[in-house]
Amino acid sequence: MLNFYPGPSKVYPEVRNYMVDAYDDGILSAPHRGEHFVQLSRTLLGLIKRKLNIPQDYYIFFTSSATECWEVLIQSLTKHKSFHIYNGSFGEKWCEYARKLRPSSEGTAFDLNEPMPVEQLNISSDTELICFTQNETSNGTQVSPTTILNLHNRYRDTLIAVDATSSMAGLNLKFIKADIWFASVQKCFGLPAGLALMACSPRSIFRAKQMGQKAHYNNLVSMYEKMLNYQTTHTPNGLNLYLMKRVLEDRVFIKSIDKQLTERALDLYTFFEQFTDFKLLVENHEVRSKTVVAIQAQERIIDEMKKRAMHHNIRLGNGYGPWARNTVRIANFPAILDEEYEELKRFFLHYYA
Ligand SMILES: *Cc1c(COP(=O)(O)O)cnc(C)c1O
Repeated sequence: MLNFYPGPSKVYPEVRNYMVDAYDDGILSAPHRGEHFVQLSRTLLGLIKRKLNIPQDYYIFFTSSATECWEVLIQSLTKHKSFHIYNGSFGEKWCEYARKLRPSSEGTAFDLNEPMPVEQLNISSDTELICFTQNETSNGTQVSPTTILNLHNRYRDTLIAVDATSSMAGLNLKFIKADIWFASVQKCFGLPAGLALMACSPRSIFRAKQMGQKAHYNNLVSMYEKMLNYQTTHTPNGLNLYLMKRVLEDRVFIKSIDKQLTERALDLYTFFEQFTDFKLLVENHEVRSKTVVAIQAQERIIDEMKKRAMHHNIRLGNGYGPWARNTVRIANFPAILDEEYEELKRFFLHYYA
């Protein structure tokens, strides 16, 4: 089965053997306050920073999901309100959760084919956290490094948090241009779901300490205090942490992965432009995602496309949110091989050329 679903997505084939290794290693039964776990965690933190290009002074934390990160950040870094900029379902959901916890939180939506409108933003000075989604998995758009830089320059004093769930470990993100970045591992990391990681700037931890919100087990202050000893607040997903270590050890540096994905994305976009039965959902080249490609057509055609693909053992990603019925999504993730995309192309040429 070829799997192009953008999460849970194809895991690296090596994961199969690494799971057996994890069992033999003893980590699955190791206490999470003991030396064995601490060693794994310490090695892993170093690897994450080195392989993903995360600044040395950023803090890394583990949670169970990106959704949990949304909540942890609102609870730990706002007392009053956050501000959300979004153009799709994941960004909007984050805003909705924030409003349930902090009713004065605000949000603004922007068009799918427009860059994030940094110049037009009107964010009040009592906003404690600015939130956006770097790669909107629901519609295949992305916020460019230049736009992130502009946002950073315009709101230097406000903390900025970025949901990078479907781009971290795929793109060479400029972590220094925002305070908080997080992702779950079932997308570009090529690992099974149930683990997420968050990278936090020193000043975000400083703010969290100032606010001192410790009413929840995964609050940033407690997470920080435990991580001083390479530990987590809760009993963590040791298997997935072990798998992450093994997978990252094998990996080339993020710069090479970014280059490969960027080239493959361009190739895929060019390829999909030739058809008449369907079109690319995102027309503006500048905001097209490098890791998730969305194709749009009439519902009937989309339905048939997914069924035909399944018949050939190819899993395409369902659409999401408002685009659930009239799009398919195709992941461009590092664990998927070039030759798998060649097979995907043959499928499309066979039925639609
Ligand atoms: C997949 C995804 C999420 C949700 O991840 P979970 O690990 O299921 O919580 C959140 N944000 C974005 C942008 C995603 O792609």
